[in-house]
Amino acid sequence: MFRFPPPFRAALAVSSDIDYTTPGYFLDLHAFVNGNGQTRFGRGLGLDIADSFWFYRANPEISEGISYFEGTCEKEKDAAVIREGIQQGRIDTLHAYGDFSLGGGFRRELAERALSRLGLSVPIWINHGDDHNFQNVLAPGTYGDLPEKRSAGGWPSRPVEYHADLFGRLGIQFIWTGDLTCVVGQERPCSAWEYYRAHRAGARAGPAAAWVLDRLARAAGATLPGRVFRRGIEHLGYPVRGRNDLVWLDRLRDGRSIWRFQRFGDFTRDCIEDLTDVLSEEILDRLVANEGAMVLFTHFGKSRVLQGSARELPAGAAEAFRRLARFRDAGKIWVARTSRLLRHLVVLKRLSAWREGDLVALEWQEDPVLGSLGDLRDLATVAVRVGEGEVRRIVSAGRALPAGVWRAHGAGSCAWIDFANGSLAETV
Ligand SMILES: [Zn+2]
Repeated sequence: MFRFPPPFRAALAVSSDIDYTTPGYFLDLHAFVNGNGQTRFGRGLGLDIADSFWFYRANPEISEGISYFEGTCEKEKDAAVIREGIQQGRIDTLHAYGDFSLGGGFRRELAERALSRLGLSVPIWINHGDDHNFQNVLAPGTYGDLPEKRSAGGWPSRPVEYHADLFGRLGIQFIWTGDLTCVVGQERPCSAWEYYRAHRAGARAGPAAAWVLDRLARAAGATLPGRVFRRGIEHLGYPVRGRNDLVWLDRLRDGRSIWRFQRFGDFTRDCIEDLTDVLSEEILDRLVANEGAMVLFTHFGKSRVLQGSARELPAGAAEAFRRLARFRDAGKIWVARTSRLLRHLVVLKRLSAWREGDLVALEWQEDPVLGSLGDLRDLATVAVRVGEGEVRRIVSAGRALPAGVWRAHGAGSCAWIDFANGSLAETV
C-alpha cells in the first residue's frame, strides 16, 4: 500500500480558523487559493485547501467577520457564502458553533437551530477561543460533550451547553481540541531528541535536559518517579512527548467515539503574515524528506500587522501559497483539504489488500466513527502495490469492481494499481 497517492511521498493540509475573516476577503482569498482564474491576488493556484466557519458571533470585541447568522439572531448574514463554500469543498470545518469569547452565551438551542437551517454535512470540529466558550469539547471547564455534571454535594444537573449528541446529524467525525506540535511531519517515527529540539523555543533549558528526563520517565513507566520526571519536563517548558500520530481514536465525555487530530504550528505564529515562516522552503523540504503528513494551523483572515482583520494578502503569504503549489506540481507534496487527508489516514488503518493469482482483494474494516468504508471516495486516494503478473480482477468488500474503476501502472515488481479514475483534484 502507498501511504499517499503516487507520486506524492508527503502530505499537507492547511487548516485555517475563521476568526477575523471578512466575507469579501474570504471570497477573494479562496478564489486565489482554490480557483484557476485571474484574481485580485494573482492567478488562481487550484490548491485543495478548505476553510472553517461560524454560525454565530457574540464576541463584543470582534465586530467584523463572516458568520451564518447575524450575531445570535435568527436572521441570516453570510449563510449563502457559507453554504456555497461547503458545497464547493472550500469549507469542511465548523470552528465551534460561534465566537462566544469574552461574553459567553452559547446554549444547546443555538446548535439545534443551526442544524435545522444548514442541512449540510461538515466533518470537522475545531474548538475555539477563551474559557467563555463552554461549547468546546474535551477541554477542562467546557460542557459541549458533558451531558451531566455533579454538584459538590453529588446532585446531578444537565449543562445547557451540551450538544455533542448532535455531532452525528452534523456529520462531525474529527475534532481538534488544542493539540499543537512543532514537529514537522506526523504519522512517522519521531525520536525524543528530534521532538525536544523542535519544541525548544521558549523553554528554560536546552533539549538535552528534557531528553534525559524523557528517558528516565520512560524507564520508570507509570510509577511515581515516572510522573515526577514528566512534571520535570513540563517544568522546563516542554510538552511531554507523546506519539507522533496525526489522527487517533478517542472518546468524548458522553462516551461517543471520535477521531482526534493535532496541528502543526504555534499560537505565536498563527496569522496570515506567518505563512512565510510556517510554509517556508525549509519546512516543506523537511516534510518531503521525512515523508510525513501534517495539518498546518493558521488564520487566513487574522493580520498581525493590523492587529485585526486582514485586508490584503501580504506578498510573503501569496508567495508561500505559490511555493506550496510548486511542491505539489513537482509531485512532492500532496496538498489535500483537512477532511480528505484525515479520512485517507483512517482508510489506510482500516484497509488490507492481498493478491491471489490474477486477483487483488481489498478488505475493509468497519470504523467506529466513519462507519462502513470502501466507496469510490475512499478508493480515490488509495494505491496498492501488486507486484509481478497481470491483475485481471479486483474484489473490494466481496464485490468485483467494474473495469474502468481501477487502473494498472508500472511493470514487474514495481507494478501498482489505483482507483482515481481521473484527476484527484476533481474527486470530492
Ligand atoms: Zn478561533
